[in-house]
Order: sequence, then C-alpha cells, then structure tokens
Amino acid sequence: MDSKDAKFGTKAIHGGLTHDLATGAIMTPIYQTSTYVQRAPGDHYGYEYSRTANPTRTALESNLASIENGKHGLCFASGLAAIDAVIKTLKPGDEVISTNDLYGGTYRIFTKIFEDFGIKFHFVDMMDVKNIEAKINENTKLIWAETPTNPMCNIIDIKAVGEIAKKYGILYGVDNTFASPYLQNPLDLGADLVMHSVTKYLGGHSDVVMGALVVNDDALAEKLAFIQNSSGAVPGPMDSFLVLRGIKTLHVRMQRHSENGKAVAEYLRNHPKVEKVYWPGFEDHPNHLVAKSQMRDFGGMMSFVVKGANLEATQKLVSSFKVFTLAESLGGVESLAGHPASMTHAAIPKEEREKTGVTDSLIRLSVGIEDKDDLIADLARALEA
Ligand SMILES: *Cc1c(COP(=O)(O)O)cnc(C)c1O
Repeated sequence: MDSKDAKFGTKAIHGGLTHDLATGAIMTPIYQTSTYVQRAPGDHYGYEYSRTANPTRTALESNLASIENGKHGLCFASGLAAIDAVIKTLKPGDEVISTNDLYGGTYRIFTKIFEDFGIKFHFVDMMDVKNIEAKINENTKLIWAETPTNPMCNIIDIKAVGEIAKKYGILYGVDNTFASPYLQNPLDLGADLVMHSVTKYLGGHSDVVMGALVVNDDALAEKLAFIQNSSGAVPGPMDSFLVLRGIKTLHVRMQRHSENGKAVAEYLRNHPKVEKVYWPGFEDHPNHLVAKSQMRDFGGMMSFVVKGANLEATQKLVSSFKVFTLAESLGGVESLAGHPASMTHAAIPKEEREKTGVTDSLIRLSVGIEDKDDLIADLARALEA
C-alpha cells in the first residue's frame, strides 16, 4: 500500500509497508542482525551492514516518508542526531537562520557544538517573516523553523517562510515534532526537509528515543544518507519496530490528544487563578488563522501561567499533580507536566528565554489520552491547593 491518494489513517497503518516476503509475517519482523550473508564478495541480498541499512529500519523509513508525503525517510538515534546530520550538510562560514523560540536542545547543539565549527546562527522571531529576510546574506544556507514552538505554542506560517527560502534558494527545514505528521505536513507547504523527534508523538508511548528526516529531493536524500552512514547515529531494529507499532495508532491518538487538549485549555482559561493559556486553538491566539490553515487540529501541547506565582510556587504546583506526571518529554499516551525554565529550557540563558515568554512561572502540559474528566479534576485539585 503506497498510494499517495490514501487518507492518513490508511497510510499510518500500511504506507510504505508490505508483509514479510520471506515468511508472510503480517508485521514487520525485528531483523536483529548487524550483518548479512553474501553469496560472493559484493553479491548480497540488498543489505550489507546494519549501520548502512537494516530491513526493520527501512520499513519504518518508508512508512515515515509515506505519512509525511515525502519520497525519502531517514531515521536517526535521536531527534538531535537528525538535526546534527542536517547541520553536517553545511560548511564553515555558512549561516543558519532559526526561530528564537526553539527547543532547548536544538539551541544547545547550534550554539555549543556547531558554532565552534565556524557555522553562524541567527535566532529571529519568525512570526514576522521580514525578520528572516533581514538576516539573509550570501552565506545563508539553511532556514530552520519549528512550529508550533516549544513551549510558547507560537505558530510560524510554514508557507510564508517557504516562499522566502525559495526566493533566495536556501534549504528550508521544519521541526514538525510538536504537530506530528497527522496535524501538519510541512513538505506540502514548501519545506525541503521535515525533522521529527520520533521520541514524542510518532513513538507515542514514551519508550523509545529516535529521530527522523523526510525529504523529497533525491540529491539531498543521498547526502543525508551518506552522513547517516558515515556518522553512524542510527536506531536499532527493536526501536524501529516499536515506532512502526506506534505509528499504526498515530491518527487515533492525535484525535484524542486534540480533543483532550481543547478541553484542558478551555478549563484552564476559565479558571480564576490562571493568568494566561498559550494554545493555538483559541480564536484569539495571535496566529490562530495560520494554525487553522496549516494544521488539521490543534493538538495537546500548551503552556500556562498561574496568577502571581513565583518560581517556588510554580515548582510546587507542577510537583503536586497526580494524573499529570512531572517529567521532560511530550507526546506520549500519558499526560506530562513540565517547568521549562528549570527543565527542557534550562540550557537557554535566562535573559534569552524570558524574551520569548519562558519565565519562571510558565508551566507546560503535554495532554495525554486519558479520560479528560480525570485530567481536569487533577488540575482543579492542584490549583485549589
Ligand atoms: C524532543 C525534541 C527534540 C529533540 O529530540 P530527541 O529525540 O530528544 O533528541 C527536538 N525538537 C523538539 C521540538 C523536541 O520536542
């Protein structure tokens, strides 16, 4: 089943996959092997060594390409390993323009690793695309966007940024982790490359760390596959199997994440102790119309601020939930709560993060797929205390 015309749920279950041709096994087997028999030197069955390719990983890579409406999928040992591969397509002297409201680990690899290799990074507010154009020069080789942003849930207009990238002939990548391919497909909106922390919604069960890239261009895919094999940050067959299994329910999970997300966001917004809720589904969210035009629904990620809460009160509140679990990460079936300033975004200097709204009193929620009444009761009880 590889039809481009199939709807999302069908592609999630069948896209890019066949039953096992050797045995008829309906589920992709876990090819737990590092190497492959050759009939004569160089005369092999299509696989030589599992850093280069492994059948379970190949199945996952084609399935990911199918659900992102792309031609080529490539899997990595983590989301950051996928980003690492993208930056390795650049050279010293090249410049990157990225959003200023960026996943903390992405900011860290850009500024703490790749700046030392002579690559220059600019962080701009991409909600106004003029800010991007202002930084473009002949060295600009990559535009890197993330939307919805983490943790402020700002929305960047993927198409508008793509038009600028195209005008100047700059490679354009979108970190699609927060939305997942169910909510949004950046390649359809003009991106050259989509990146995922597969760890989050794609895996969906908080049991795997993995990353992925999906592209259409053959030459770019070849370059990335060369880096994937040369640098070697690849996932194993067992993890590839777990993610294939996770993706089969992605659409169903995302529907419930979105439904619960809406219920929780509305509850919080009407709570007298809550000052502000950041969620793109609200009609008065500053980028709601862009979100509506490029996303299928609004998902379960949101942040909120409690009225008058200082660092201590905020940390106490996030530690007092009983159904929401205090933990880093997001996108699993279980609801998680986090304190970005001291957890996911601690790597970003305080002045930098406060500029985008990541203050000490911000709480981030990844709303899971439990019963929404229990989630709301948990928030009600904690906010009351
Ligand atoms: C988690 C995350 C990453 C990094 O992915 P890992 O799998 O943890 O390496 C990158 N971008 C976003 C938006 C994330 O949430």
